[in-house]
Formats: sequence, structure tokens, C-alpha cells
Amino acid sequence: MEIKKERRLKNIPTKASEKYRNFPMVPRVVFGNGSFDQLGDILMPKRKHSEAPIVYLIDDVFEGTELVKRIPNIFCDQLIFVSANEEPSTFQVDALVTMIKENFQELPSGIVGIGGGTLLDLSKAVAILLTNNGSAAAYQGWDMVHKKAIYHVGIPTISGTGAEVSRTTVLLGPDKKLGINSDFTTFDQVILDPELTKGVSKEQWFYTGMDCFIHCIESLEGTFLNAFSQSYGEKALELCKEVFLNDIPEGESRDKLMMASWHGGMSIAYSQVGVAHALSYGLGFLLGVKHGIGNCLVFQHLQEFYPDGVRLFNEMMEKHQISLPTGICQHLTDSEFDKMVAIALGMEPLWENALGENWRTVITAEKLTSIYKKI
Ligand code: NAD
Ligand code: ZN
Repeated sequence: MEIKKERRLKNIPTKASEKYRNFPMVPRVVFGNGSFDQLGDILMPKRKHSEAPIVYLIDDVFEGTELVKRIPNIFCDQLIFVSANEEPSTFQVDALVTMIKENFQELPSGIVGIGGGTLLDLSKAVAILLTNNGSAAAYQGWDMVHKKAIYHVGIPTISGTGAEVSRTTVLLGPDKKLGINSDFTTFDQVILDPELTKGVSKEQWFYTGMDCFIHCIESLEGTFLNAFSQSYGEKALELCKEVFLNDIPEGESRDKLMMASWHGGMSIAYSQVGVAHALSYGLGFLLGVKHGIGNCLVFQHLQEFYPDGVRLFNEMMEKHQISLPTGICQHLTDSEFDKMVAIALGMEPLWENALGENWRTVITAEKLTSIYKKI
């Protein structure tokens, strides 16, 4: 794919973004089946003293499983099981931070998130809010965080979102669904152990995996594309095709999807997502539709914007016999459609990436409403 001349490092709304973006990467990462058991050794030098615990935020699907027994739970460490049935919210982050501050006299030595995008985002946000005062909602946006977060570790148990590498944590807030995008959001350590993704259901595997596929398409087809993003996006796309269109052994497929997620996340770090994510945010805010499935629900109707991507997506759906729910927006009122459209249109950088600076001449409220009505 050739990068057009005008497609060079666009102004993405972050302080560090004027032209050259000095963005943080995860400084340490372990990869491999069984690497979860490195966690104890990794944390040991980070423990300040026995009164400053490690707080583990764990997806509650793991409650009572073998994985919990392998967690290095020593001194006054605390395990908190959290449901991923709803996407993380600023209220939930505030409540967790209050609880941790009440339970311990000292700030924790570290926060460890174990789960999918929901738990990873929650952990990043809790780590930030433990050192930055006030409500999480005050930090939604770009570069609003000014103090370093508590040391935080991400351990994904499902692959696709790229939340393990990104500098954002997406939260539902009182009036918007928006990320805390900051240099302090990125994990200090990630453990990539593909075996942890073994228990994921086929549907969820597909939806979260398609989040990665859609990141690739939106990044590679976007006007913000540059060689940095392209290099990661193309690799991630290649891996997604192997996983979702070829017949490869399960273990290899788990390894590859975990690395696809990583590369997809790196690709959008230096560009942006696009039309599917903008519309999916509207669905998520109004109806609580989750990110992965929401992206799929939208993406199927985006032939006009991403013809090749939608063709591949349909092939993947067919191969894995996935049928998406219908009638999601059937009973919505005009004012509810307007609200979703307003949320979607508010994601300006996404539209600019997808369609260029003059995106407002292409995208109208009517057009977006007509897409939502198909869902
Ligand atoms: P998720 O964390 O919401 O989990 C989806 C489902 O899979 C849940 O029911 C969960 O319990 C289950 N699950 C997870 N691991 C499992 C396992 N090993 N075995 C059995 N079940 C398992 O899913 P997700 O799609 O990874 O994350 C979605 C969230 O990620 C959204 O909140 C979205 O906003 C966020 N997100 C963040 C970024 C970012 O850069 N920060 C990027 C994309 C999406
Ligand atoms: Zn996404």
C-alpha cells in the first residue's frame, strides 16, 4: 500500500501531537504460554513494603478457577473480582479508588489487571486516579493527567482490543464515552500469555478479534496513515487473516491473535480509528452495546467506506458461522437517534482520519441515522 503525499503525521488532538508524537510504549513485556507464572518475580522488586499491597483487579469469570491460585497473593495484597458484563465507567473507577484508599493506609505498590479490555481499562484508570485527585470523569479527554500513575501491569485474557498497548482507557462517563488519553495511562508491564485466552466463547473470540481487524482497516484506510502505523497495521491484518480465514492449529491461532492485537493497538497509536468506532461509541453510550459486538454491528453496513474490509469481514463471519443480532435500534425514538448521532459526530479526529479534513461535507446526521436504522 502506498502512502499518499498529504497523508503524513496529522494533527491528532494530544499535546504531544503537533507533528511529531513522543508517545510512550509499554517498556516491559513477557510473551509465551505459561509466562503468567513470572508475575511473582516481576512484582517483587516493585513492592514498596509489606503495608503497600498489590491490588489485583480480576475478571470475575476467573473466580474460583486455577488461575486465581497462581496469583502471587502475599502480604496484604487484595484480589478484587469485577464483572465485565458492563463496560467500565467513571463511577466504577471512583468507587474502586475510594475503596482501596479506605482499605489501606498506604497507596498500593501496584495495580494488576487480569481480563479483557474491560478489566485492562479499569486497571489503568484506577492506577491513574489513585494519584490524581477528583473524579475519573475530569480526566476524560486528551492529556488531562499530570501526575504519574501507580505502577500498573496488564495481563490480557482475550485478544483484540489492543488495550494492553494503548495510551488510553475508555470509560463511560456521566455525559460521554471517552478515553483518558495520557502518557501515564500506558501499562508499565504487560504479560502476554496466550494460554489465558483458552476459555473464551467462540462468539466473544470473534467480536473482540474483529475489534483488532477493524482497527487495522480503519488505520490502513485512514488519511492519518504513515509508515509507522502502516508497518504495524499490515502485520496485524496479515495475522488476523491467518487466524480468521485460514485453518491453523488452535495454539498457533491464540498466539497469533494475541500478537495481532498488540500490533493493531500500535498501529492506531500513531493514527486513529474511523467510521466504525465513531458509530459504535454512539451505540455503546446510549444502549450499552459492548465495543466488540458494537463494532461488528456497525461495520457490516460500511461497504461505502471500507469495501475491501467489509468483504473480508463477511467472509470471516461466514467461515465461523457468526450471526449478528438484528433489530437493536428498532424501537428507538427520534431523540435517541439524535443522541447517538451527536455522540458519533463528536468524535472529530476519527472522522477526519476516515474521510479527511472536509469530512463534514460527506457525513450528515441523516446519513448516520440511516446506518443506525439498519442495525
Ligand atoms: P471484555 O473485557 O469486555 O470481555 C468480554 C467477555 O469475555 C466478558 O464476558 C469476559 O468475562 C469474557 N472473558 C474474558 N476473558 C475470558 C477468558 N479467558 N475466558 C472466558 N471468558 C473471558 O472484552 P474486550 O472486547 O476485550 O474489551 C472490551 C472493552 O475494551 C470495552 O470496554 C472497550 O471500550 C475497551 N477497549 C479499550 C481500548 C483501549 O485502547 N483502551 C481499545 C479497544 C477497546
Ligand atoms: Zn476498538
